[in-house]
Amino acid sequence: MHNKLTDFLATEIKSLHDQKLFKTERIIESAQGAEIIVKGKKALNFCANNYLGLSSHPDLIKAAHEEIESRGYGLSSVRFICGTQDIHKVLEAKISKFLGMEDTILFSSCFDANGALFEPLLGENDAIISDALNHASIIDGIRLCKAQRWAYKHGDMRDVEEIDPATDKMAKGLERCLIEAKNCRFRMIATDGSFSMDGDIAKLKEICDLAEKYDAIVMVDDSHSTGFLGKTGRGTHEYRDVMGRVDIITTTFGKALGGASGGCISGPKEVIDWLRNKARPYLFSNTVPPAVVGATIKVMDLLMASTDLRDKLERNTKYFRTKMTEAGFDIVAGEHPIVPIMFGKYPDCSKLAVEFANKMLEEGIYVIAFSFPVVAKGKDRIRVQISAGHEMEHIDKAITAFTKVGKELGMIK
Ligand SMILES: *Cc1c(COP(=O)(O)O)cnc(C)c1O
Repeated sequence: MHNKLTDFLATEIKSLHDQKLFKTERIIESAQGAEIIVKGKKALNFCANNYLGLSSHPDLIKAAHEEIESRGYGLSSVRFICGTQDIHKVLEAKISKFLGMEDTILFSSCFDANGALFEPLLGENDAIISDALNHASIIDGIRLCKAQRWAYKHGDMRDVEEIDPATDKMAKGLERCLIEAKNCRFRMIATDGSFSMDGDIAKLKEICDLAEKYDAIVMVDDSHSTGFLGKTGRGTHEYRDVMGRVDIITTTFGKALGGASGGCISGPKEVIDWLRNKARPYLFSNTVPPAVVGATIKVMDLLMASTDLRDKLERNTKYFRTKMTEAGFDIVAGEHPIVPIMFGKYPDCSKLAVEFANKMLEEGIYVIAFSFPVVAKGKDRIRVQISAGHEMEHIDKAITAFTKVGKELGMIK
């Protein structure tokens, strides 16, 4: 079974190990939740995208069971041959209502949704203008499409082109890109709603204003926002008060909305009808299974009936951010439940962050360190993710552990 390719890969893999870049996976021996079991020991989980604590919620598990009983395990078909059930249409309608959009199309993942979106809608006479820090799936989706491409410096709304000191390369602001693309037939601005490394939130108000000024379409991937950002949890468009001004939203069911799998695109009816006919990951990939559809319908019902979960997440996040700042940690300011604890100002910060995360697990707190090349050099961090599944005592335990380890490693007094 060994050949030139496997020999080549063995060398490459060794090089990853040598550079400490090889990704190893820690194994969880329980259900996903606030309390998990890692290496036979209990730990409190502070690194899942389980923002609303729904991953193992009894109502979702019950709803998934019920749909397995009534609609079966799988569809063995794509949607347009014989893979659409009544429940798929129910879910699409509920998501549309929740997000305030006309119609919705389901995919097996948001990665697939972003892979599906651009190519059928835009051609070589069109422009896609993308935030430089957009998610890999947006970048790949754009690669599949023949449209002309612009990238604007992360979050930079201006009509400028200048050297970016972070990269030493020329970088443009969004307005400059829009001006350069003014002769294209259609212009689409693509952005993450919330960015996963810093937990910063796209300036959708400014983006929508510029889109109106330059006749562009706005696409937001709200995977790290849907279900909890905004006062009723609709997402970044609610948080930034631009509901009705964002044209297309893609999002995942694999984070706050239960955490299993699945994703969707929501937008104008014509866009969704067109994608049902032309989007390759929809036409040539299997239907989302009934269990996932049933549980996600339950999520929509829960979130439209009450804001309790997103309210609790907001309280937990505020509390954690305030207490960690008081303890003396360097935290990227903001309101998102992604809370980056920064290590850049300490000597040997990459090693320090890894050592810190390992010591935290000994204290029963599961957090992960991120270093170059996942984040820029000197931006080493532990990324904490707060959940509505955390109780006050969980958060207090995490703060106590952070403080203890921070003192041991000489980071705080
Ligand atoms: C997680 C994520 C995705 C991928 O979602 P899946 O449903 O897991 O494929 C896409 N976009 C963004 C912004 C994400 O954070």
